[in-house]
Amino acid sequence: MIANDPIIIVGGGLVGASLAIALDTAGYPAVLIEAAAPRPGAQPSYDERNLALARATVNGLKAIGVWELAASRATAITDIHVSRAGDFGSVRMSAAAEQVDALGWTLPARELGEALLRRLDTCRHLTRIAPGRVGAIEANDAGWTVEVQTPEGIRRLATPLLVGADGTHSQIREQLGITARTHDYDQTLIVCTMTPERDPRGRAFERFTDAGPVAVLPLADRRVGMVLTVAGALGEDVAAMDDAAFTAFAQERFGWRLGRLSRPGKRHPYQIRRVAADALVARRAVVVGNAAQTVHPIGAQGFNLGLRDALTLSEMVTAATDPGADALLADYAARRQSDREGTMAMSHGLVRLACLEQPFLGPLRSLAMLAFDRVSPLRHAMARRGMGFRERAPSAVREPTP
Ligand SMILES: Cc1cc2nc3c(=O)[nH]c(=O)nc-3n(C[C@H](O)[C@H](O)[C@H](O)COP(=O)(O)OP(=O)(O)OC[C@H]3O[C@@H](n4cnc5c(N)ncnc54)[C@H](O)[C@@H]3O)c2cc1C
Repeated sequence: MIANDPIIIVGGGLVGASLAIALDTAGYPAVLIEAAAPRPGAQPSYDERNLALARATVNGLKAIGVWELAASRATAITDIHVSRAGDFGSVRMSAAAEQVDALGWTLPARELGEALLRRLDTCRHLTRIAPGRVGAIEANDAGWTVEVQTPEGIRRLATPLLVGADGTHSQIREQLGITARTHDYDQTLIVCTMTPERDPRGRAFERFTDAGPVAVLPLADRRVGMVLTVAGALGEDVAAMDDAAFTAFAQERFGWRLGRLSRPGKRHPYQIRRVAADALVARRAVVVGNAAQTVHPIGAQGFNLGLRDALTLSEMVTAATDPGADALLADYAARRQSDREGTMAMSHGLVRLACLEQPFLGPLRSLAMLAFDRVSPLRHAMARRGMGFRERAPSAVREPTP
């Protein structure tokens, strides 16, 4: 029977693993195929980047039994301060004003990855193939047959629904014939931890400068996660700076809101590209997470958006008789459209507007920021979006009723 044939998920990154766990939570059979070995440190995205997880995301991770394995390593974000160097306005959002305990949480991706791996170990309806790399895929009457290269040899598996969760450079997307638009920001993101003189006490900062945006996230032990955007050509030079030069650079870019910065950790550079698939679904196939859309990390939306993909898909297929039916996939694509387009436009627009140097834009931006800060319905709406709440969101991310 089609309904009981396992869904195949290609890619066990943050989104693919979350989808596999969500399906398992609902008792639905799936196969998760991941190219890297299933141990901490082996998977490319289970690394040192510090993730800002929206409140809705944490609701979703709680619903699938992942958060309880990660919560002790997370730091609550109680306030967010958005400003631009040289402009007079700023926007502040606070958990207290929204009557919640936190707007979101920060967690190193490595820690979330470890929690996902531990939770995957307890799944009862899931088959995991790792390491296993999907090569050729072939359409058949009932769905797809995929070829997996494993250390033991080649395996062939059939599925009524193929999910491409294989990241930005998704080979599944390409094999399905789904085209994608790419925008190279010509920027490098430098990620590291630092220790500020003043305890951030749950405050996260987003500061825009002519040279690119900077985000500072509160972490455990009074540290902060620093995310610096630099022009592509400077990326390697900045990553290679010694501690003193890098500290001076970071201080100049972020300013003095947290006093003197010190003790920079190892610097990790990332090249930034925006990739948007032209379609989310094909015949008996769907792409999710970064394979569907990769956004600029400075808005901290990529995983938050990808988890909503995964939880929406899980909610819809577990309620259906045929997980790969055309109508179901068309409904899925329609349901994800507004969140996806809105979040992509916000992430892209934020970077572009905040980085434009035209002098007349400064006062406009300042006024816009002042308006957001002073007009409480606007600020509230922005805070709700920042917390990851969207129309037609999967039920798992909604606020539990008291
Ligand atoms: C510096 C930085 C900071 C970020 N900060 C935030 C943040 O604060 N908040 C936020 O929400 N998001 C953030 N993001 C974005 C977030 O990390 C990504 O959106 C997320 O990792 C996407 O997960 P994914 O599972 O879709 O893809 P990936 O994590 O890239 O996983 C894809 C997986 O597929 C596997 N794979 C690929 N090809 C195959 C194949 N043929 N066969 C089998 N397996 C395959 C790979 O090994 C990999 O494990 C940040 C990103 C960066 C770079």
